[in-house]
Amino acid sequence: MIPVNKLIPAIRQFENQGRALEVSADERASLLQTVSQYTESFLNSLPKQKTYEKEGHRRLHDDDAFEIKNGTKSIGSIISLLQKRIDGIGLNPPSGGQLGYIPTGGIYTAALGDYIAAVTNRYAGVFYASPGAVRLENALIRWVAKLVGYKENFGGNLASGGSIANLIALSAAREAGKSKTNDPTTWVVYLCQQSHHSILKALKITGMDVCVIREIPLDENYRMDTRLLRKQIRKDKKEGLHPLLLCANAGSTDVGAVDPLEEMGNTAKEFKLWFHVDAAYGGFFLLTKDGREQLKGIHLADSIILDPHKGLFLPYGLGIVIVKDVKYLLAANNFDANYMQDAFNADEELSPSQLSPELSRHFRGLRMWLPLKLHGIKPFAANLEEKLLLTRYFYEKVKELGFQTGPWPDLSVVTFWYEPANGNANDFNRKIVAQIQNDGRLFISSTTINNRFLLRFAALSFRTHLQHVNLLLEQLEDALRILQKSSNH
Ligand SMILES: *Cc1c(COP(=O)(O)O)cnc(C)c1O
Repeated sequence: MIPVNKLIPAIRQFENQGRALEVSADERASLLQTVSQYTESFLNSLPKQKTYEKEGHRRLHDDDAFEIKNGTKSIGSIISLLQKRIDGIGLNPPSGGQLGYIPTGGIYTAALGDYIAAVTNRYAGVFYASPGAVRLENALIRWVAKLVGYKENFGGNLASGGSIANLIALSAAREAGKSKTNDPTTWVVYLCQQSHHSILKALKITGMDVCVIREIPLDENYRMDTRLLRKQIRKDKKEGLHPLLLCANAGSTDVGAVDPLEEMGNTAKEFKLWFHVDAAYGGFFLLTKDGREQLKGIHLADSIILDPHKGLFLPYGLGIVIVKDVKYLLAANNFDANYMQDAFNADEELSPSQLSPELSRHFRGLRMWLPLKLHGIKPFAANLEEKLLLTRYFYEKVKELGFQTGPWPDLSVVTFWYEPANGNANDFNRKIVAQIQNDGRLFISSTTINNRFLLRFAALSFRTHLQHVNLLLEQLEDALRILQKSSNH
């Protein structure tokens, strides 16, 4: 046993070393100034930055700069490492020229919400620990629930993204399945060919990959063919299976198609299926007039997910799940722990920890709530309206250039390709993407549907405007000229 009088000097010594973590007011001011100088210079130079830069030859040979070792570094040298080795390499999602993938942008005021949440570090997982934080998040969930047309008894959760939100929704659906039979190998799950792969991941994680999984073919607009769906459900029932879950897209990631939600919802009701709508990409278009028309019937869903880090332009790290009847969310997630006996009280609001797999978690509501309060809803809606119109503009203009197009865009994705007079069309279109990516001012992506290599235009950034779309049209025209010239020789 160490005598108590020897303990005290040892305690003091470690106390002094450990004090380095409690930064003084002066140091805080200076750190914050350096960080904000960097983020300011990043944002101010953003219009001139490339949207895509291959790591390639720029890769340096100081790979161990990221390794954690003893010793300290100055904030200045740390920032210069971030600048050199992270920012400016690969994809640049905050750029308005990012027209290739859906999640993009990152509004500044959301970062301020994150900053405050991290400094004040409220315990947002449990109502008892931070009634205010939980009330704020529940208010966001109520706002989104109202947006999709839910009335009461719903429950939801702010998750880290759409994939986890899908996982939570499917774990709730699984609880509903238990009332049908306890043998999940007889449950049937109906997806479409454009279901996001996070749904397949969620099926695997929830153990529902043992279910019978039906992939219903698409119609010519890349939407689920509901006639084939109904035929398949009837057939499955006749064979003694238990149709359980129907998944729809409210905006597929690949082609932006919105499934016929109303028809699918009514079919789900008729055959008593759980109807899940993956609106990770398209959900917030409910803030627009045309979006509401496109997404008609979304309220029929038993569970819905939306990604504020897509449709509300937040930085990565926020997906929302809402379940029409909260009891299934509770059934899937609620557990008691002895040391939590003070935490739950029946007359309080439900806590995120009762409705999701997480316990301790980031107070992520603030990054969404603060911007909505500061800016109001209107500029978010306006940005989405603008993206719908830009997409239609692009769709018309790219046809004028001689490109072929996929279906009329339901939301803000266009697929298109060029049919060259001679040579392989897929190779030709692959070269177009490569040319635009090599230039780097803009970024577009590609996909393959029915063995056809397609170019993808996806607009969902609050920084994407007419000038970017016009620049893309110019670049496509240039690419055609160059490629046609070289194939004529
Ligand atoms: C992006 C997306 C997801 C996955 O969401 P993450 O936030 O990337 O995890 C799921 N479904 C659809 C339709 C999506 O567009």
